[in-house]
Amino acid sequence: MPDPRQALQADDALLIVDVQIDFCPGGALPIAGGDEVVPVLNRWVAAAVDAGVPVLASRDWHPSHHLSFTESGGEWPVHCVQDSPGARFHPGLRLPESAIVVTKGVRFDRDQYSAFDETGLAAELQKRGVHRVWIGGLAQDVCVRATVLDARRHGLDAIVIADATRPVTAEGGARANDDMRQAGARFETTQGPPLKGAELERLWRDLNSGWRVVDEHHLEKEYPFPDFREALDFTVRIGELAEAQDHHPDVYLAWGKVRLTIWTHRVGGLTERDFIFAAKADQVSVAGSSR
Ligand SMILES: [Zn+2]
Repeated sequence: MPDPRQALQADDALLIVDVQIDFCPGGALPIAGGDEVVPVLNRWVAAAVDAGVPVLASRDWHPSHHLSFTESGGEWPVHCVQDSPGARFHPGLRLPESAIVVTKGVRFDRDQYSAFDETGLAAELQKRGVHRVWIGGLAQDVCVRATVLDARRHGLDAIVIADATRPVTAEGGARANDDMRQAGARFETTQGPPLKGAELERLWRDLNSGWRVVDEHHLEKEYPFPDFREALDFTVRIGELAEAQDHHPDVYLAWGKVRLTIWTHRVGGLTERDFIFAAKADQVSVAGSSR
Protein backbone atom coordinates (compact mmCIF):
# COMPACT_ATOMS: atom_id res chain seq x y z
CA MET A 1 0.00 0.00 0.00
CA PRO A 2 2.18 2.81 -1.26
CA ASP A 3 2.34 6.40 -0.19
CA PRO A 4 2.32 8.44 -3.43
CA ARG A 5 5.31 10.40 -2.16
CA GLN A 6 7.38 7.27 -1.83
CA ALA A 7 5.99 5.23 -4.71
CA LEU A 8 6.78 7.41 -7.70
CA GLN A 9 10.08 6.91 -9.56
CA ALA A 10 11.87 8.94 -12.18
CA ASP A 11 10.67 6.85 -15.15
CA ASP A 12 7.01 6.85 -14.08
CA ALA A 13 4.01 8.73 -15.40
CA LEU A 14 0.65 9.38 -13.79
CA LEU A 15 -2.23 8.81 -16.21
CA ILE A 16 -5.65 10.06 -15.17
CA VAL A 17 -8.41 8.68 -17.35
CA ASP A 18 -11.55 10.71 -18.14
CA VAL A 19 -12.27 12.35 -14.77
CA GLN A 20 -14.88 14.55 -16.43
CA ILE A 21 -18.09 16.12 -15.14
CA ASP A 22 -20.32 13.86 -17.27
CA PHE A 23 -18.88 10.73 -15.63
CA CYS A 24 -19.46 12.00 -12.08
CA PRO A 25 -22.71 12.08 -10.09
CA GLY A 26 -24.97 14.72 -11.63
CA GLY A 27 -23.40 14.28 -15.09
CA ALA A 28 -24.83 12.79 -18.27
CA LEU A 29 -23.30 9.33 -17.79
CA PRO A 30 -22.76 9.26 -14.03
CA ILE A 31 -20.66 6.55 -12.44
CA ALA A 32 -21.52 5.83 -8.81
CA GLY A 33 -18.87 7.39 -6.60
CA GLY A 34 -17.07 8.79 -9.66
CA ASP A 35 -16.22 11.99 -7.82
CA GLU A 36 -14.67 10.05 -4.95
CA VAL A 37 -11.59 9.42 -7.07
CA VAL A 38 -10.82 13.16 -7.12
CA PRO A 39 -9.26 13.65 -3.65
CA VAL A 40 -7.27 10.43 -4.06
CA LEU A 41 -5.95 11.47 -7.46
CA ASN A 42 -5.12 14.93 -6.15
CA ARG A 43 -2.68 13.34 -3.74
CA TRP A 44 -1.02 11.48 -6.60
CA VAL A 45 -0.92 14.65 -8.69
CA ALA A 46 0.74 16.60 -5.87
CA ALA A 47 3.29 13.83 -5.38
CA ALA A 48 3.94 13.57 -9.13
CA VAL A 49 4.53 17.31 -9.45
CA ASP A 50 6.97 17.25 -6.55
CA ALA A 51 8.79 14.24 -8.02
CA GLY A 52 8.94 15.72 -11.54
CA VAL A 53 6.84 12.84 -12.87
CA PRO A 54 4.66 13.73 -15.89
CA VAL A 55 0.92 13.99 -15.27
CA LEU A 56 -1.31 13.07 -18.19
CA ALA A 57 -5.08 13.44 -18.25
CA SER A 58 -7.19 11.88 -20.95
CA ARG A 59 -10.59 13.18 -21.88
CA ASP A 60 -13.49 11.73 -23.83
CA TRP A 61 -14.21 14.38 -26.46
CA HIS A 62 -17.01 13.45 -28.80
CA PRO A 63 -18.40 15.28 -31.81
CA SER A 64 -22.17 15.83 -31.47
CA HIS A 65 -24.24 12.85 -32.68
CA HIS A 66 -21.22 10.59 -32.09
CA LEU A 67 -21.80 7.00 -33.11
CA SER A 68 -21.38 5.85 -29.48
CA PHE A 69 -24.58 7.72 -28.48
CA THR A 70 -27.87 5.83 -28.29
CA GLU A 71 -29.43 8.42 -30.63
CA SER A 72 -26.97 7.20 -33.25
CA GLY A 73 -27.47 3.53 -32.45
CA GLY A 74 -24.63 3.34 -29.93
CA GLU A 75 -24.34 2.09 -26.37
CA TRP A 76 -24.19 5.28 -24.28
CA PRO A 77 -26.31 8.35 -23.58
CA VAL A 78 -25.02 11.61 -25.03
CA HIS A 79 -21.88 12.50 -23.03
CA CYS A 80 -18.67 14.52 -23.21
CA VAL A 81 -19.66 16.48 -26.29
CA GLN A 82 -16.74 18.67 -27.41
CA ASP A 83 -16.64 22.02 -25.57
CA SER A 84 -19.79 21.25 -23.52
CA PRO A 85 -19.72 21.87 -19.74
CA GLY A 86 -20.05 18.13 -19.08
CA ALA A 87 -16.86 17.42 -21.02
CA ARG A 88 -14.76 19.52 -18.62
CA PHE A 89 -12.51 17.88 -16.09
CA HIS A 90 -14.06 17.62 -12.62
CA PRO A 91 -13.57 21.06 -11.07
CA GLY A 92 -12.01 19.53 -7.94
CA LEU A 93 -9.27 17.79 -9.92
CA ARG A 94 -6.11 19.82 -9.47
CA LEU A 95 -4.24 19.29 -12.69
CA PRO A 96 -0.96 21.19 -12.82
CA GLU A 97 -0.31 23.61 -15.66
CA SER A 98 2.22 21.12 -16.95
CA ALA A 99 -0.44 18.41 -17.33
CA ILE A 100 -0.59 16.81 -20.76
CA VAL A 101 -4.13 16.45 -22.04
CA VAL A 102 -4.84 13.40 -24.19
CA THR A 103 -7.95 13.80 -26.31
CA LYS A 104 -9.82 10.74 -27.58
CA GLY A 105 -13.26 9.75 -28.81
CA VAL A 106 -13.05 12.26 -31.65
CA ARG A 107 -13.29 9.78 -34.50
CA PHE A 108 -16.54 9.74 -36.45
CA ASP A 109 -16.28 6.12 -37.52
CA ARG A 110 -15.60 4.33 -34.23
CA ASP A 111 -15.22 4.89 -30.50
CA GLN A 112 -11.86 5.10 -28.70
CA TYR A 113 -11.96 3.87 -25.10
CA SER A 114 -8.21 3.71 -24.60
CA ALA A 115 -6.06 6.80 -24.09
CA PHE A 116 -3.51 5.03 -26.33
CA ASP A 117 -5.92 4.47 -29.21
CA GLU A 118 -4.49 6.44 -32.14
CA THR A 119 -3.45 9.31 -29.89
CA GLY A 120 0.29 8.82 -30.19
CA LEU A 121 0.51 8.47 -26.43
CA ALA A 122 2.79 5.42 -26.48
CA ALA A 123 5.36 7.28 -28.58
CA GLU A 124 5.11 10.35 -26.35
CA LEU A 125 5.75 8.28 -23.21
CA GLN A 126 8.67 6.56 -24.88
CA LYS A 127 10.13 9.92 -25.85
CA ARG A 128 9.90 10.98 -22.20
CA GLY A 129 11.62 7.80 -21.03
CA VAL A 130 8.56 6.50 -19.20
CA HIS A 131 8.56 2.79 -18.40
CA ARG A 132 5.80 2.58 -15.82
CA VAL A 133 2.37 4.21 -15.62
CA TRP A 134 0.14 4.65 -12.59
CA ILE A 135 -3.43 4.70 -13.84
CA GLY A 136 -6.67 5.84 -12.22
CA GLY A 137 -9.91 7.45 -13.32
CA LEU A 138 -13.20 6.52 -14.96
CA ALA A 139 -14.62 4.12 -15.71
CA GLN A 140 -12.78 1.11 -14.39
CA ASP A 141 -14.59 -1.37 -16.68
CA VAL A 142 -14.49 0.75 -19.84
CA CYS A 143 -11.82 3.37 -20.54
CA VAL A 144 -9.51 2.56 -17.62
CA ARG A 145 -9.58 -1.11 -18.58
CA ALA A 146 -8.86 -0.37 -22.25
CA THR A 147 -6.08 2.05 -21.33
CA VAL A 148 -4.40 -0.40 -18.94
CA LEU A 149 -4.56 -3.23 -21.50
CA ASP A 150 -3.01 -0.95 -24.13
CA ALA A 151 -0.29 0.18 -21.74
CA ARG A 152 0.67 -3.45 -21.29
CA ARG A 153 0.49 -4.07 -25.04
CA HIS A 154 3.00 -1.25 -25.49
CA GLY A 155 5.35 -2.90 -23.01
CA LEU A 156 4.78 -0.50 -20.13
CA ASP A 157 4.49 -1.58 -16.53
CA ALA A 158 0.97 -0.66 -15.49
CA ILE A 159 -0.24 -0.11 -11.96
CA VAL A 160 -3.93 0.49 -11.34
CA ILE A 161 -4.57 2.82 -8.40
CA ALA A 162 -7.42 0.70 -7.08
CA ASP A 163 -8.98 3.34 -4.84
CA ALA A 164 -8.83 5.94 -7.62
CA THR A 165 -11.19 4.25 -10.05
CA ARG A 166 -14.88 3.26 -10.14
CA PRO A 167 -16.79 0.95 -12.50
CA VAL A 168 -20.06 1.44 -14.38
CA THR A 169 -21.24 -1.83 -12.79
CA ALA A 170 -19.73 -3.88 -9.98
CA GLU A 171 -19.72 -7.05 -12.11
CA GLY A 172 -18.06 -5.19 -14.96
CA GLY A 173 -15.47 -3.88 -12.52
CA ALA A 174 -14.66 -7.38 -11.30
CA ARG A 175 -14.33 -8.70 -14.85
CA ALA A 176 -12.17 -5.74 -15.82
CA ASN A 177 -9.86 -6.42 -12.87
CA ASP A 178 -9.44 -10.03 -14.05
CA ASP A 179 -8.62 -8.86 -17.57
CA MET A 180 -6.14 -6.25 -16.37
CA ARG A 181 -4.49 -8.68 -13.95
CA GLN A 182 -4.17 -11.30 -16.70
CA ALA A 183 -2.49 -8.72 -18.89
CA GLY A 184 0.12 -8.25 -16.17
CA ALA A 185 -1.16 -5.08 -14.52
CA ARG A 186 -0.61 -4.64 -10.79
CA PHE A 187 -3.03 -3.11 -8.31
CA GLU A 188 -2.12 -0.81 -5.47
CA THR A 189 -4.16 1.08 -2.92
CA THR A 190 -3.15 4.55 -1.84
CA GLN A 191 -1.80 4.75 1.62
CA GLY A 192 0.00 7.43 3.42
CA PRO A 193 1.02 8.92 6.71
CA PRO A 194 -1.50 11.08 8.56
CA LEU A 195 -2.38 14.07 6.46
CA LYS A 196 -0.86 17.30 7.55
CA GLY A 197 -0.62 20.93 6.57
CA ALA A 198 -0.91 21.71 2.88
CA GLU A 199 -2.18 18.28 1.92
CA LEU A 200 -4.96 18.53 4.47
CA GLU A 201 -5.81 21.97 3.23
CA ARG A 202 -5.97 20.84 -0.37
CA LEU A 203 -8.32 18.01 0.48
CA TRP A 204 -10.72 20.06 2.48
CA ARG A 205 -10.85 22.74 -0.18
CA ASP A 206 -12.50 20.07 -2.35
CA LEU A 207 -15.45 20.25 0.01
CA ASN A 208 -15.69 24.08 -0.23
CA SER A 209 -18.94 24.09 1.69
CA GLY A 210 -18.52 25.41 5.19
CA TRP A 211 -16.49 22.56 6.65
CA ARG A 212 -13.89 23.53 9.18
CA VAL A 213 -10.74 21.52 9.82
CA VAL A 214 -10.61 21.80 13.60
CA ASP A 215 -7.31 19.95 13.73
CA GLU A 216 -5.80 17.01 11.91
CA HIS A 217 -8.17 14.65 13.69
CA HIS A 218 -11.54 16.21 13.09
CA LEU A 219 -13.73 18.18 10.75
CA GLU A 220 -16.78 20.15 11.77
CA LYS A 221 -19.77 21.78 10.12
CA GLU A 222 -23.00 23.39 11.25
CA TYR A 223 -26.05 22.90 9.08
CA PRO A 224 -28.84 25.43 9.60
CA PHE A 225 -32.25 23.78 9.93
CA PRO A 226 -35.06 26.25 10.68
CA ASP A 227 -37.48 23.32 10.72
CA PHE A 228 -36.88 21.03 13.70
CA ARG A 229 -38.46 18.01 11.97
CA GLU A 230 -36.07 18.40 9.04
CA ALA A 231 -33.20 18.62 11.50
CA LEU A 232 -34.36 15.41 13.17
CA ASP A 233 -34.77 13.71 9.81
CA PHE A 234 -31.27 14.80 8.84
CA THR A 235 -29.73 13.36 12.01
CA VAL A 236 -31.48 10.04 11.39
CA ARG A 237 -30.17 9.92 7.84
CA ILE A 238 -26.68 10.84 8.97
CA GLY A 239 -26.90 7.92 11.41
CA GLU A 240 -27.80 5.60 8.54
CA LEU A 241 -24.95 6.96 6.44
CA ALA A 242 -22.52 6.55 9.33
CA GLU A 243 -23.55 2.94 9.79
CA ALA A 244 -23.23 2.19 6.08
CA GLN A 245 -19.79 3.81 5.96
CA ASP A 246 -18.55 2.43 9.28
CA HIS A 247 -17.91 5.96 10.49
CA HIS A 248 -18.49 7.46 13.93
CA PRO A 249 -19.42 11.13 13.78
CA ASP A 250 -20.76 13.20 16.67
CA VAL A 251 -24.12 14.72 15.87
CA TYR A 252 -25.27 17.64 18.00
CA LEU A 253 -28.88 18.62 17.43
CA ALA A 254 -30.11 22.02 18.63
CA TRP A 255 -32.89 24.40 17.73
CA GLY A 256 -32.24 25.73 14.27
CA LYS A 257 -29.10 23.75 13.58
CA VAL A 258 -27.27 20.45 13.51
CA ARG A 259 -23.56 20.31 14.19
CA LEU A 260 -21.67 17.40 12.74
CA THR A 261 -18.18 16.48 13.91
CA ILE A 262 -16.30 13.89 11.90
CA TRP A 263 -13.47 12.18 13.68
CA THR A 264 -10.64 10.56 11.86
CA HIS A 265 -11.58 7.09 10.75
CA ARG A 266 -8.23 5.64 11.63
CA VAL A 267 -5.86 6.48 14.41
CA GLY A 268 -3.31 8.94 13.17
CA GLY A 269 -5.05 11.65 11.20
CA LEU A 270 -7.71 12.53 8.67
CA THR A 271 -7.75 10.47 5.49
CA GLU A 272 -9.62 10.66 2.19
CA ARG A 273 -12.31 8.49 3.75
CA ASP A 274 -13.14 11.18 6.26
CA PHE A 275 -13.41 13.83 3.57
CA ILE A 276 -15.57 11.56 1.44
CA PHE A 277 -17.85 11.02 4.42
CA ALA A 278 -18.11 14.80 4.85
CA ALA A 279 -19.04 15.18 1.17
CA LYS A 280 -21.69 12.48 1.53
CA ALA A 281 -23.13 14.23 4.59
CA ASP A 282 -23.53 17.33 2.43
CA GLN A 283 -25.40 15.25 -0.14
CA VAL A 284 -27.73 13.98 2.60
CA SER A 285 -28.49 17.53 3.70
CA VAL A 286 -29.23 18.62 0.13
CA ALA A 287 -31.44 15.57 -0.53
CA GLY A 288 -33.40 16.30 2.68
CA SER A 289 -34.03 19.95 1.99
CA SER A 290 -35.20 19.38 -1.59
CA ARG A 291 -38.02 17.03 -0.59
ZN1 LIG B 1 -17.47 8.24 -24.74
